[in-house]
Amino acid sequence: MHYQPAQKAGSVERLEAKPINAARLGRPLYEKRRKIFPKRAEGRFRRFKWLVMLVTLSIYYLTPWIRWDRSAHAPDQAVLVDLAARRFYFFFIEIWPQEFFFVAGLLVMAGFGLFLVTSAVGRAWCGYACPQTVWVDLFLVVERFIEGDRLARMRLDTGAWTFDKVRKRVAKHAIWLVIGVATGGAWIFYFADAPTLMKSFVALEAAPVAYMTVATLTATTYVFGGLMREQVCTYMCPWPRIQAAMLDENSLVVTYNDWRGERRTRHAKRAAAAGEVVGDCVDCNACVAVCPMGIDIRDGQQLECITCALCIDACDGVMDKLGRQRGLISYATLSDYSANMALATNNGAIPIDPRRVRDGNGVFVQGIRDFDWRIIFRRRVVLYFGVWALVGLGMLYALVSRDRLELNVLHDRNPQYVVESDGSVRNGYVIKLLNMIPEPRRITLSLDGMPSARVRIAGQAPGDGQSFSVAVDPDKVTSFKIFVTLPKESLVEAQSGFSFRAEDPSSKERDVYRTNFIQPGTAK
Ligand code: SF4
Ligand code: SF4
Repeated sequence: MHYQPAQKAGSVERLEAKPINAARLGRPLYEKRRKIFPKRAEGRFRRFKWLVMLVTLSIYYLTPWIRWDRSAHAPDQAVLVDLAARRFYFFFIEIWPQEFFFVAGLLVMAGFGLFLVTSAVGRAWCGYACPQTVWVDLFLVVERFIEGDRLARMRLDTGAWTFDKVRKRVAKHAIWLVIGVATGGAWIFYFADAPTLMKSFVALEAAPVAYMTVATLTATTYVFGGLMREQVCTYMCPWPRIQAAMLDENSLVVTYNDWRGERRTRHAKRAAAAGEVVGDCVDCNACVAVCPMGIDIRDGQQLECITCALCIDACDGVMDKLGRQRGLISYATLSDYSANMALATNNGAIPIDPRRVRDGNGVFVQGIRDFDWRIIFRRRVVLYFGVWALVGLGMLYALVSRDRLELNVLHDRNPQYVVESDGSVRNGYVIKLLNMIPEPRRITLSLDGMPSARVRIAGQAPGDGQSFSVAVDPDKVTSFKIFVTLPKESLVEAQSGFSFRAEDPSSKERDVYRTNFIQPGTAK
């Protein structure tokens, strides 16, 4: 794209901006990337995007630094993926490896959440909250700060390599790289105690994998956010393809309302004086100039459009200057658009005639359909919300009702049993007690179902023979070997197996594990 000076038409600045891609341009399938220099937009959607950017970046960079007291026996980082101890901490929630279904449930919720948002408000995720969008926005802030807005950047790009250009480019790429390092750096803090890792990282004493992770994420952030930008959305991301299946005629999409905009002209007054029918679009290209994807929304719905609504802000600004009603580009449903189009074209019988949609005072006629919030709460959206809420409620129930004490038993495989000199039979078991709270406690282990059996911990004297108490470490698996012995005359008790019962006498929390007692004739 080559720089050309802007022309003025009345009070509206006319920009020389062309879309980088459009079917009508007939570009070849493969061609060199055309650079996009998005102009800074002003308006309510831009302000909302600033807010989303601030919130999402703050969450990402600051979360690992939030502390959460879990007593002295567990880490005090609020959100931590502790790979060494195989734990996931999320504020008051602690997930053990066998509870990974909670993470799977979260992923299912995220999937249905995306379906829900897409069918309700189109590609809002892409336009506002996707990391690619947020980081590209951040990189553009840096670019604008150093190189200026659209025209200045275009001039700089096509200009000679002066000292000023080199200085600006070096500064821009250096800051981009710092953002990349900060992004990669923040990521590793989710996997270890952040303050400790920060110290060892700066002192070059951290594990090599930490440096490799930061280097990889620095490179991907820099390349995706700074260099590739819109190409990631257009060519690499599968979501634009998938979301097409989720949109219906009632989904909200950013729409150019050509039923009021066409025939577009740069010389509205002259055309009107000549008796020509003209629409609201003054062909100023402001909507094209602000588009971060480099497209012209007036060409209709396109895969590239991430629904960031910046073109709405740009066009609303133009309409304000012209004293016309906002909404020439707006969030609209296909169904509303088609109804309005039918009105403007007499059901397709004539070309667009914007006079058909307004009365003599320039006010839209009654049949014109406008955005109605109720459209968001239609059946498909409610269905997605229902599934999403059901998964969430199921997980919440599983979370509050889950046990924090678990018993696992492993029968000795070799030998499976030992016959003692008096004819009694002994079986060996490895007991694993999972104490999933960050406090030490004493657990009573007892036998159910073989009243004559005697149990003892290997290497220790037998107690009362039917139960014993064992101290378990906080937030750990305590493992030990036990022997269960059944007298010769009571071997019949073992026919249908028996149970180990682990119980915390103070909280009454318990877990039961059913297993077998193997004797001659039943060995496998
Ligand atoms: S066409 Fe409009 S909504 Fe779509 S990406 Fe461009 S500026 Fe954003
Ligand atoms: S749609 Fe709006 S912003 Fe785009 S060219 Fe027409 S008047 Fe300008």
